[in-house]
Amino acid sequence: MKIICIGRNYAAHIQELNSATPSEPVFFLKPDTALLLRNRPFYYPTFSNEIHHEVELVLKVCKLGKNIQPHFAHTYYDEITLGLDLTARDLQDNAKKKGLPWTLSKGFDQSAPLGKFLPITNFPDTGNINFHLDVNGKTVQSGNSGLMLFSFNAILSSISQFMTLRTGDLIFTGTPAGVGPIAIGDKMEAYLEGEKVLSCLVK
Ligand code: MG
Repeated sequence: MKIICIGRNYAAHIQELNSATPSEPVFFLKPDTALLLRNRPFYYPTFSNEIHHEVELVLKVCKLGKNIQPHFAHTYYDEITLGLDLTARDLQDNAKKKGLPWTLSKGFDQSAPLGKFLPITNFPDTGNINFHLDVNGKTVQSGNSGLMLFSFNAILSSISQFMTLRTGDLIFTGTPAGVGPIAIGDKMEAYLEGEKVLSCLVK
């Protein structure tokens, strides 16, 4: 199982980090050891002083696929949830300056808290799915899948030109604006169309 993440997929988030708007989707990977399941707590690591939350819609791949055409891409995922692409922003900024990979800043243990999956059929219009993240009861990020630069189907099609997708692979589809630091004691709660699918305490 692999976790594929897309970066820079919402215009307002690209602006807040002063990044360039990509003409092709920007991908990176997290290892399976990054997963944090069943609303377990996140333990703040010692190697960073600036862990950011990034709430994202996450798709689960339901069949083997390679060179998937965009108009068939919707048949390759059947479940959706929210996940947190936790990012050691200090390590990432340092890597960006030196032109080095983002692996450590994005792929550390527990960097991918994952919510409860829902059938994609619960969402007849995948181009209009609302979600938000609350930290300590206050909404800090809200997004809608219609604001993505690259749609679910464009993302799947693009990845599959390079990497074979397998059943169970997870795709993090990018974060909207409002990313920010978390601190020990914070409670993060993510809502998919009003339903809480993820809760994570920072310890
Ligand atoms: Mg992200």
